[in-house]
Amino acid sequence: MDSKNKSLSKNQQIVLDFIQRNKKPVKAYSILSSVQKKGINAPPQVYRALDKLIEKGKVHKVESQNSFVACKILNCETRHATIFSICYKCDSASEINDTKLFNYLSEFKDSGGAKFDGYNLEFFGTCNSCKKN
Ligand SMILES: [Zn+2]
Ligand SMILES: [Zn+2]
Repeated sequence: MDSKNKSLSKNQQIVLDFIQRNKKPVKAYSILSSVQKKGINAPPQVYRALDKLIEKGKVHKVESQNSFVACKILNCETRHATIFSICYKCDSASEINDTKLFNYLSEFKDSGGAKFDGYNLEFFGTCNSCKKN
């Protein structure tokens, strides 16, 4: 097992496994119906596990879709700074790992000179595999 996941509870691991198996972002209700088969019957248990996973940066929320994806970036472990590219056609969401962009955004100040703690960026377009079809 991945050593990174040592600190996860059993429920968190079940929820994470399900999200990781899906290539596309998953909605809370599909997580719920899937983990019920594994014995987590109470929705609050699932939401609690989900919250913890988001807090640990293992899972990110795609705000525009209200759905969840597993983090694929090693040492990402953040909940306040995510960038996704989202496909209009197939709804796939890929996490963007671009150092230049990260550096720019972490130094970003608004016109009044204020710095911010986080961002949730989403780029929209057509993914490569949809372009081919
Ligand atoms: Zn991430
Ligand atoms: Zn696509």
